Amino acid sequence: DATIEVRNLRKRFGRTLAVDGLSFTAEPGMVTGFVGPNGAGKSTTMRALLGLDAADEGEALIGGRPYHALRTPLLEVGALLDAAALHPSRRGRDHLRWLAHSHGLPMSRVDEVLDQVGMDAAARRRAGGYSLGMRQRLGLAAALLGDPPVLLLDEPVNGLDPEGIQWIRTLLRDLASEGRAILVSSHLMSELEDTADHLVVIGRGRLIAETAVADLLAAA
Ligand code: ADP
Ligand code: ADP
Repeated sequence: DATIEVRNLRKRFGRTLAVDGLSFTAEPGMVTGFVGPNGAGKSTTMRALLGLDAADEGEALIGGRPYHALRTPLLEVGALLDAAALHPSRRGRDHLRWLAHSHGLPMSRVDEVLDQVGMDAAARRRAGGYSLGMRQRLGLAAALLGDPPVLLLDEPVNGLDPEGIQWIRTLLRDLASEGRAILVSSHLMSELEDTADHLVVIGRGRLIAETAVADLLAAA
């Protein structure tokens, strides 16, 4: 069961309460949009789900377990927190080949994920010439490499042009329809309303609203 679950999560940085008792779930088969203004606590929550920051209180669980208790993390959770940062002389494809190798995945996965993110030719070029949108696509390819049932994507639309935004919407819909649980953040509700099934809206580290998008549209 690949449910993403945040329960009473609290995280403080010095005097800043970045996440303040947040609870929500993101279910398999759905795109859950995670919306809030900059500084609302989205990245901190995702980092807690990935075990990158220890929570002060509460839990951040993937299929009922904290990240550190997952047996094969890359096969269970794919994450895009920042656009891939590669050495300018490294080719995107070589980076993915190295990732696949180090996780014991077949090299055929590299071409499959590059195809999924529409980067076959570009990935053979050196990363020095990549746009932000291309680095986002490469980061997404890396997240998809282990074919994980859970995806955590922090502002994946950043740096994409309108065509890229439409492309990522379709991709996320397809990935969710295959049964994955997808948590995708944005500071703009408008970026997610066409993509998400479910919305979790936060501000100042707290839950403001959690709703099915269908209910939101029916109320409009
Ligand atoms: P969002 O992803 O919604 O933009 P963040 O989770 O990045 O929000 O940040 C929430 C709050 O916590 C902000 O006030 C931010 O400045 C602060 N914060 C995040 N990470 C750190 C950190 N490592 N050190 C200090 N403050 C942090
Ligand atoms: P996002 O908007 O995606 O949260 P940020 O630019 O806020 O990205 O944060 C980028 C990195 O800087 C994160 O690792 C975050 O934890 C850290 N960070 C954010 N705010 C602060 C802060 N006030 N002090 C120190 N580190 C911070």
